[in-house]
Amino acid sequence: MRNKILVIDDDDLVRKSVQRVLVTAGYNVTCAQDANQAIDEIKKQDFNLIVSDIRMPGKNGVETVREIQKIVSQHSPKDIPIIFITAYADTSEQLGAEFLGEVIIKPFDLDHLLITVIEYL
Ligand SMILES: [Mg+2]
Repeated sequence: MRNKILVIDDDDLVRKSVQRVLVTAGYNVTCAQDANQAIDEIKKQDFNLIVSDIRMPGKNGVETVREIQKIVSQHSPKDIPIIFITAYADTSEQLGAEFLGEVIIKPFDLDHLLITVIEYL
């Protein structure tokens, strides 16, 4: 079943509310608060989708996702679909994100996020 989602966000409140809505919808959710945690999780298990913040201390979401796709490409021919959630519209960071996946601008509606997740899985 394609139900494993990795949620990456440094903001506890966002991470927890996204996790709650996805778990309630029946997805198996793992959370990471930064690039290092996310990369550790990717090495431990396969995911069907990633929801990632862009602005984070240390590596940003775009850099994190690029690194994750590089690791995944070593054992899978397919990239993992990415949904970015960001409060920062029209930044150069976001421009990079658009080449890698869907971008949803915060504050966002959790139902909108859930619908987007369902479209990808
Ligand atoms: Mg952030």
